[in-house]
Amino acid sequence: GWLLGSSVFLLILTTGCFLFMLATILRQKKLSEVKNDFINNMTHELKTPIATVTAAIEALQNFGALNDPKKTQTYLTISQNNLQRLSDLVEKVLNLAIEEKRDLVLHPEPTKLADLANDLITNHQLRATKPLHVTLHIPTETTVSVDHVHFSNALNNLIDNAINYSYDQVDISLTFQQKANDGWKLTVADNGIGIPKAYQSAIFDRFFRVPTGDLHPVKGFGLGLAYVQQVIERHGGRIRVHSEPGKGSEFILEF
Ligand code: ADP
Repeated sequence: GWLLGSSVFLLILTTGCFLFMLATILRQKKLSEVKNDFINNMTHELKTPIATVTAAIEALQNFGALNDPKKTQTYLTISQNNLQRLSDLVEKVLNLAIEEKRDLVLHPEPTKLADLANDLITNHQLRATKPLHVTLHIPTETTVSVDHVHFSNALNNLIDNAINYSYDQVDISLTFQQKANDGWKLTVADNGIGIPKAYQSAIFDRFFRVPTGDLHPVKGFGLGLAYVQQVIERHGGRIRVHSEPGKGSEFILEF
């Protein structure tokens, strides 16, 4: 009896250890895969705009494009767009660094929400490569207390995603709702590809990207929503998503 008892105990113990090790290995494998994807995407994203701007400048210098105002304009526009892409990327990485150190310090101040949203939208419309239809349901006088820089960045990330994960006809709406208890709610909705239920909680994890989520060659890094969530929570709010694949997504910010 004693022998059998201790053998069973040992067996359970070894199996337990084995399962634990297996789980750890699997987790590490997943993490290293995720890291690899990240580095590959990042390398691609950094190199492409640099190569493109370099080529555009070369064309201007060496192939006489400068004598042709139309060509000059084209190459300048290409350069400008690609530099903007690089700058967005640097911004994302910097935001990530801030988040990593957990020292996201906010300086909330009264902010006119409609103005803030309008600035972001105008910027996107100037850079848009496809028709962008945005509807604002935010009363002009709506004032909220937010950190201008981080809240703008967060909202910008949501708008960016709405555009990136949509088909050619982008329809976005931003809707403000005042709640009875002094709280408020802002919804960013799109008519894009949507997010399968199984992934809806994971999208807020750093580096997570929906495996079938890419519509366009521009790859992301899975960092945007982790940053957005951090910013919203530091404001004392929370963020959740409602989405149906094929129909669209709604990101709901509640304060
Ligand atoms: P990134 O866009 O750089 O991959 P994010 O953290 O912003 O990183 O988003 C994580 C993932 O969530 C995206 O890769 C995409 O699969 C999915 N996603 C985010 N926003 C949307 C959206 N509006 N519509 C559909 N999928 C989305």
